[in-house]
Amino acid sequence: MTVCKQLPKEKLGFFPTPVHRLDRLSKQLGINLYLKRDDFTGPNLFGGNKIRKLEYLLGDARQKGADTVITFGATQSNHAMETAVAANRLGLNTVLYLETITPNDQQDDRANILLDKILGAQIHYVSMKGRTEAQADEISMQQALVEKKRLEANGHHVYIIPVGGATPIGSVGFVLGFKELVGQLPDVAIDYVVHGSGTGGTAAGLIAGAKVFSKEAHPTQILSINVSPKPESHYQKVVDLGNAALDLLDLETRISLADAHFDQSYFGDGYEIPSEVGSNAIRLLARTEGVLTDPVYTGKAFAGLLDYVRIGKIKHGSNVVFWHTGGVSALFAEHKIVWEIV
Ligand SMILES: *Cc1c(COP(=O)(O)O)cnc(C)c1O
Repeated sequence: MTVCKQLPKEKLGFFPTPVHRLDRLSKQLGINLYLKRDDFTGPNLFGGNKIRKLEYLLGDARQKGADTVITFGATQSNHAMETAVAANRLGLNTVLYLETITPNDQQDDRANILLDKILGAQIHYVSMKGRTEAQADEISMQQALVEKKRLEANGHHVYIIPVGGATPIGSVGFVLGFKELVGQLPDVAIDYVVHGSGTGGTAAGLIAGAKVFSKEAHPTQILSINVSPKPESHYQKVVDLGNAALDLLDLETRISLADAHFDQSYFGDGYEIPSEVGSNAIRLLARTEGVLTDPVYTGKAFAGLLDYVRIGKIKHGSNVVFWHTGGVSALFAEHKIVWEIV
């Protein structure tokens, strides 16, 4: 198999994560459906896809001598929470800039914001009132840069991780994640991997990984289901991210837009806004397989998979892997996020 360059890495979770067939749902849908359990990345119950990126991001941070990481997200951000978990494991401080996309009740902390506080992360809220997401992102970054300067004047070394850990180094985790999956299913010609996409760092890595490590003569298509609206320009950025990750690994393969399959049809009214199809998907997986997914990412992504089977975009008999990216703590978030699942 293709050999790639070794990059600095910290062991943060439990890898390889399990992969298993969903027998009852496979039968019901007429496909071979497997689940890749990145909800079990660890190192606690609330794992998720960011741990895979953070192994490389914090490997880089450590190599650069950082003692503090600053990152960004929504108040219920999985990425922010997983960063705090990972940083604690390495003895680094975490500073979070959290945008109040769904405003939280600070007297009644739930889900990830509660975990962030238990984990001891330093939290700064960035109000979304009267601001677009782009404006809030800009304000978060400005505040973070001021804080970085202040900390560095006090002798600290700060490493900034952009929202979602979407950097070439982060995506390396998913190039190699795809390789891990192929190694776990030696006898399965994987037709599709379906996953939820936010910043695109996961998609970038998986698309690049599939291009390099798919089985000979059987390329796997990565089907990325968006969980928020994105401008057309987003997709070229994802492709560039994937190529930059390949470059870091000293791999000569390159990906293009033709290798990417993004779909904006399944996030309903927007990020963190629950949808009926998402809730239906969550109940179906829970009630046929006992597997839990979440209203913000994996439920909506699974709703996309179900619809693809229904409309024949995923054909009968296909070998399909649903990449469970975690996020299940959102089931215990504010009512506005969870909605009426039951
Ligand atoms: C962050 C996240 C994603 C999306 O990953 P990106 O790399 O940002 O696209 C999907 N699912 C869950 C549960 C996440 O927390």
